Amino acid sequence: MSLVKEPWEVAMMRHSGRRLAEVAAILREAVRPGVSTLELDQLAEKAIRDRGSIPSFKGYVVAGLTFHHSICASPNDRVVHGIPNATPLKDGDIVSIDVGLIYGGYHADHAFTVAVGTASKSALELIERTERSLELAIAATVPGNKVGDVGHAVQTYIEGFGYGVVKEYVGHGIGRAMHERPSVPNFGRQRQGQLIKEGMALAIEPMINLRGAATRVLNDGWTVVTEDGSLSAHFEHTIAVGPKGAEILTKL
Ligand code: MG
Repeated sequence: MSLVKEPWEVAMMRHSGRRLAEVAAILREAVRPGVSTLELDQLAEKAIRDRGSIPSFKGYVVAGLTFHHSICASPNDRVVHGIPNATPLKDGDIVSIDVGLIYGGYHADHAFTVAVGTASKSALELIERTERSLELAIAATVPGNKVGDVGHAVQTYIEGFGYGVVKEYVGHGIGRAMHERPSVPNFGRQRQGQLIKEGMALAIEPMINLRGAATRVLNDGWTVVTEDGSLSAHFEHTIAVGPKGAEILTKL
């Protein structure tokens, strides 16, 4: 599998990315106190299928375990891979929603964190700074830079606030498969790692904890939580590397 896509493949991924951005906009609108993550999951599946696309998370198997939903929904101290359930979200919660689809054989992957109703100042700052760290990572994703430059951009910005950068889960190449090479950690050293080239398609996804970086997995085998119970935020875009820098595919 080549790390570099043909221009026609990037063109296909624009279609996938646009559809996913539309789905995400629908989900953002729907987040409010009283809605359950299971309802958001059903809304996502319908929006994905209405766009001639397939929910890529549904039926995804890791280590013999199958994921049965179209989104991962991770409230509060949930970092990633939370399983949608019937518990209503409460005013003051934050929730990370990760969603992916396949259109025309090409994947798009996207995540965002939002406040449910009115959240605390520290929660809102965590969300805003995690999103900003993704923007900085994307700005570093230019031909001639290395993957370490991308992670370094996230890490230096985020650790300045005393937050923890999650190390166990990382971004990834994306295309005909959801997870392709190279891995894109949210930490790293400048000028280290894979060279970034025009035509690469990457899912860049900082996961940031309000306090410690450590995580653990719940007994359901999926849900990743912060070890210290602190809040966590997650933003992800699928991007394609152009001649001068990254084009965000999962943005309207
Ligand atoms: Mg991803």
